[in-house]
Amino acid sequence: MRKPFIAGNWKMNKTGAEAAVLIRQIREGYKEDAVEVAVCPPFTALRDAREALHGTNIRLGAQNVYHEESGAFTGEVSIPMLQDLGVELVIVGHSERRHIFGESDGLINKKVARVLKSGLVPILCVGETLEQREAGRTRDLVRHQVMEGLKDLTEEEIGKVIIAYEPVWAIGTGRSATAEDANGVIEYIREILGELAGKNRADTIRILYGGSVNKENAASLLGQPHIDGALVGGASLKADQFLGIIRSATGKESV
Ligand code: PEP
Repeated sequence: MRKPFIAGNWKMNKTGAEAAVLIRQIREGYKEDAVEVAVCPPFTALRDAREALHGTNIRLGAQNVYHEESGAFTGEVSIPMLQDLGVELVIVGHSERRHIFGESDGLINKKVARVLKSGLVPILCVGETLEQREAGRTRDLVRHQVMEGLKDLTEEEIGKVIIAYEPVWAIGTGRSATAEDANGVIEYIREILGELAGKNRADTIRILYGGSVNKENAASLLGQPHIDGALVGGASLKADQFLGIIRSATGKESV
């Protein structure tokens, strides 16, 4: 069974105090044990977020990490630093990291491997640009990013990863993929995971959709058999939107 999973990527938004307010609002409306939920505030708000989450089963995630333990890496944050703040999940390879900050598949692979070795859960993001989609290269691109991102990992390690399929043209644009289209690409990703880790294991791996998910379109996206949840950007900054998306995932448990 794959428990539905909804994660909020707050990007570069919210101070510590603002994070605490948003989490209090989410807590008030969150009653869904059947859905796993995480919030990923910026590094500077993690401590306040952890305090605000105390006593809930909402998990704390980070938006990025560096794969080295410590040392001369100005501006970077390590896995032990995140663990010290109660972080359990890390978004790796988000398209903004790939496209704005030039993160390569090789770097992303190192991050995924180290995150797993430390016992945290990576949410590996993959997805094509509009240009790649229009050139008919979506599947090739997604295959490449999944293969490279999970390179040299054991089958057991691959089984612990969460994947987020996020077409770049759908992120922050208000233009979501159609539910059927997203489901088709995600089904294809599951086939790739089957090649890497065996079908049985691939059937347990959660694959999320991300890209302009909101409470209005969530039910149709999450109603698809291969879409196990959502990575939510803009709509995760508004409690009523985020709670609406969580509610849409209730009752969904894929075999
Ligand atoms: C994201 O940042 O992962 C994302 C999907 O953003 P948005 O929901 O705003 O498109």
